[in-house]
Amino acid sequence: MTETLKSTLANAQKLLEATSDSPQLDAEILLGKVLQANRAALYANPEQLITDSQIDKFEQLLAQRFSGKPVAYLTGLREFWSLELKVTPDVLIPRPETELLVELSLMHIPESDDCKVLDLGCGSGAIAIAIATERPSCKLTATDTSLTALSIARENADKLCPKRIQFINGSWFAPLKGELFNFIISNPPYVSSQQPQLTDPELEHEPPQALYSGADGLDDLRQLVTEAPDYLMNNGYLLLEHGFDQADTMTELLRQAGFVNIKTHHDLAGLPRVTEAQHP
Ligand code: GLN
Repeated sequence: MTETLKSTLANAQKLLEATSDSPQLDAEILLGKVLQANRAALYANPEQLITDSQIDKFEQLLAQRFSGKPVAYLTGLREFWSLELKVTPDVLIPRPETELLVELSLMHIPESDDCKVLDLGCGSGAIAIAIATERPSCKLTATDTSLTALSIARENADKLCPKRIQFINGSWFAPLKGELFNFIISNPPYVSSQQPQLTDPELEHEPPQALYSGADGLDDLRQLVTEAPDYLMNNGYLLLEHGFDQADTMTELLRQAGFVNIKTHHDLAGLPRVTEAQHP
């Protein structure tokens, strides 16, 4: 049977409704990958015929999508802060809510100062790269405990902001002894390891070390808050992403660690998502 772009998209969209919150978008992105065309191009030629081998490839991608594999891992790409990042199952897929963390950081990081900015647990490099593109004079360091994640972050940085970020392998502050920063930013794992079944099934495809952090999800955040004062200059800022139900605990932990000007900000879904605090 001869399929057109339009009929192929419509059939796929219907089938994806059972698996995905965004069946139309998923169908467009996956067919776009097979045809090496962007989404606008798909709509420019709706009656274009699709070859059998293109249908085969598309069906293979759809089968993986039906099994819950995220679209970003099928295409190997994800847009964040209008930047196209390479992603693989070795890194967390950058989320729209993490753009809030970037936005708040940029509100504090001066435009024309060579201040030092640290992104802890950089994954694909999304946060550090977004900041590098917006603040040409700041000095960026990004760390990750996973060497495979670091190599992907480096690849992204080489393409999007060459020579701007120093990448270091290691867990949280361990490789940074004696260093001081003006800004420390992190989107650490913060999901409770006891309730993975309550969260999105797509999380099963992402690296668990980027998602889960102890029984209450706060193990890594606690460590970051406790150790950050030793690595912050006077008046430096700590900005942390956290779970929607962790803002009160975060505020208390930051207060106990001596931070001031503690403020929680809400993401686009209206959930408390980022808490910032200043080191006196
Ligand atoms: N925001 C992610 C989620 O969807 C969690 C990411 C993280 O733990 N940093 O659950």
